[in-house]
Amino acid sequence: MTEQPMVCYRHPTKETTLRCNRCDKPICAQCARRTPTGYRCPDCIREMGKVFVTARWYDYITAFLTAMILALIAALLVGLLGSGLGLFFIFIIVAAATAVGSLIAEAVRRVVGKRRARPLFITATAGVVVGGLIPNLPLLVTVFLMGELGGLLALLWPGVFIFLAASTTYVRLSGIQIGR
Ligand SMILES: [Zn+2]
Ligand SMILES: [Zn+2]
Repeated sequence: MTEQPMVCYRHPTKETTLRCNRCDKPICAQCARRTPTGYRCPDCIREMGKVFVTARWYDYITAFLTAMILALIAALLVGLLGSGLGLFFIFIIVAAATAVGSLIAEAVRRVVGKRRARPLFITATAGVVVGGLIPNLPLLVTVFLMGELGGLLALLWPGVFIFLAASTTYVRLSGIQIGR
């Protein structure tokens, strides 16, 4: 028995040697879509797109609020701890910011479940920034609205903290889908 020539699943007249590397269906060169992990059929491409935008509208609100409230609490605690620790404070800031970022990412993941989308990660990250800024609002007002630039130094640590916490949150959230 001779082996049947493989034909594209969408074009039964086109012989091919290519297969989708996700579902293994034969695809012709015209149907094959090149991805970072190899050739995929149009069906798989479409399905991957769907998975990526499964977040619902309310996920954005819950993700933002979860991130904002946790970041606000963390920023208040760090502000309290910070008074009187001097230079040693920098270690606490760095350690606390990465821990807080991971914790917020985990909390957001719990809240939105398996649904995910890149704009959702950005929304949660924005929540971290807003939450972290709230305790520093009086300082921001004196520095930027009243022009008291002496306060800039006092904004340095909250700034470092917010930046580290927010970037950790984003990396943790978006990193989850790399292995999927
Ligand atoms: Zn496929
Ligand atoms: Zn085809």
